[in-house]
Amino acid sequence: MNFIDSHCHLHDPRIISDIPGIEDRASIANVQYMVSCATMEDNFELTAQLSKDFQSILPCFGIHPWFVGSISSQWKERLEHYLLTYPSGIGETGIDFTDKTCDREAQIKVFLHHLILARELERPINIHVRNAWDTFIHILKKTGK
Ligand SMILES: [Zn+2]
Repeated sequence: MNFIDSHCHLHDPRIISDIPGIEDRASIANVQYMVSCATMEDNFELTAQLSKDFQSILPCFGIHPWFVGSISSQWKERLEHYLLTYPSGIGETGIDFTDKTCDREAQIKVFLHHLILARELERPINIHVRNAWDTFIHILKKTGK
């Protein structure tokens, strides 16, 4: 049986130098593909490059809720560029209200845009939800299937 790691962050500077080793160990464990999620505009290109360099890496592009404060004024265009240029999924995105000082409205706005793109482009979406389940369910009910 072959497996897919549906959520990892191979652009992480703590592990990026060991990608060939990670790929080898994944292969030994029958992990055929690894879905590597970007988390902010700054790592979109690195995530794309990893998917070009390693056949087993499938990219996802998105803004993680922890990093909505880092978005540029062109974040939507950049996200769409990567989604249209690479066979990819969307994410990591979502909402996380663990930090009481987080900008909840910004997280919801950014997450909603990812949801709309996922539907329009018919792409899978990697969603992070922590301490925000009521809001998450409300958004899904509001936006529909
Ligand atoms: Zn993650």
